[in-house]
Amino acid sequence: MNLSEKISIEKSVPGRRGLVFAKAAKPASAYLPAGALRKAPPRLPEMGEFEVVRHYTRLSRLNFCLDTHLYPLGSCTMKYNPRANEEIAALDGFAGAHPCAPDSAVQGTLEVLHRLEKLLCELTGLAAFTLQPAAGAHGEFTGILVAAAYHRSRKDRKRVEILVADSSHGTNPASAALGGFSVRTVASRPDGRLDMEALKAALGPQTAMVMLTVPNTLGLFEGQIRQIADAAHAAGALLYMDGANFNALLGLAKPADFGVDILHLNLHKSFSTPHGGGGPGSGPVGVAAALEKFLPVPRIAEKGGTFALQAKAAGSIGRMRSFAGNTGVAIKAYAYLRGHGAETLRSIAENAILNANYARAKLKDLFPPAVDEPCMHECVLRTEPEKTNGLKTLDVAKRLLDHGFYAPTIYFPLIVHEAIMIEPTETETKETLDAFVAALRAIHAEALADPEKVHAAPHTLPVKRLDELGAARNPNVAWG
Ligand SMILES: *Cc1c(COP(=O)(O)O)cnc(C)c1O
Repeated sequence: MNLSEKISIEKSVPGRRGLVFAKAAKPASAYLPAGALRKAPPRLPEMGEFEVVRHYTRLSRLNFCLDTHLYPLGSCTMKYNPRANEEIAALDGFAGAHPCAPDSAVQGTLEVLHRLEKLLCELTGLAAFTLQPAAGAHGEFTGILVAAAYHRSRKDRKRVEILVADSSHGTNPASAALGGFSVRTVASRPDGRLDMEALKAALGPQTAMVMLTVPNTLGLFEGQIRQIADAAHAAGALLYMDGANFNALLGLAKPADFGVDILHLNLHKSFSTPHGGGGPGSGPVGVAAALEKFLPVPRIAEKGGTFALQAKAAGSIGRMRSFAGNTGVAIKAYAYLRGHGAETLRSIAENAILNANYARAKLKDLFPPAVDEPCMHECVLRTEPEKTNGLKTLDVAKRLLDHGFYAPTIYFPLIVHEAIMIEPTETETKETLDAFVAALRAIHAEALADPEKVHAAPHTLPVKRLDELGAARNPNVAWG
């Protein structure tokens, strides 16, 4: 297919119509006030309905999507989300509820939200959750405001710094800065874990919080997290865990057990809402008991089987989001958790870990892992351009598209040279993983036999290599 084909408004042919309505008995001016009438007709494409259907269907096929292709995008958990949960969230009583409805009219929705909070407490061991934040990064920001409120409540005003591991997700330092803190990065050791000595040297009376992504962006569990928590607490600081990739830990570990004070989850990613595509998300934040009073309002309160949104709570950091958060996402998460039950929840994490390790083990002779040991839900491999006629990570990503696979996350984490971050997720079959591994192995062989072919990839897609520098220097963000 050829993307340079005329699209959108340029396909328009003057006078062409989809539907032709019968002329109204009276002109629009008979119904509408003069100020609301158009002076000129709207500038819309003039096309037949059939052309419009074909146009959008064709565009949709130019893209990769989860329903057609493996999407091993590290740190993004592009997994299958059961359709049944979409149907549950779309039930009239949930989807049709007006956001301003009185609590008495939406008891069912409030009960589901309340139950979800309790389930998330059970899964993480934390004392209380808020479902308000609309995304992972929004959850981080909420957690950071909670930490600030905690230190303020103790009149401890010197704590102006947040320590962030260099293996953290990029949103962690950004959220800390947005929350008004200065950010100090703590280095990892060659084995990908936080350097305890560097951490201890950085901790002090100025430290408000330590932020860790667990598993970290190398896909590794921070095995010394208990010691990290103890060191942070001994210095009067809190420990924040970025739990966006909780599919690696579900049913296997409770973060409260290793000393986490504040954590966010991504319901999109881990709990049955697709991630990406700009749809609504949800980044609930859980806290230890001592921090509960700082959580945002409204809180969902239960009294004798009746549920209410409490708009006021002493100590609260205030409102983070309109209404009660993205309730549709929360309902899907609740349906997902209840649909699985305790035993099979654990198998989500086990399969996520198994699949990542399977891919890692099948590829490690050609694409060496950043850290050569078993990983959690994702693995970080590398290309070795100096040994393979200059086969770079970008080349691998582009050539994979020709093989019918979406590309993994590349050049992230920043601490790994030529990084390829693969997250197969728990919902892929062995057959799909085998095909993916075979494609990567074929690309490696091709780099040795016919390097130009790989460097020029993709060959089968409507868009070839983009001029990324040109796009950054001369952005044209408007159509036409
Ligand atoms: C995806 C992700 C985030 C950010 O979540 P958003 O919903 O995109 O804001 C934060 N941390 C980690 C580890 C993630 O994988």
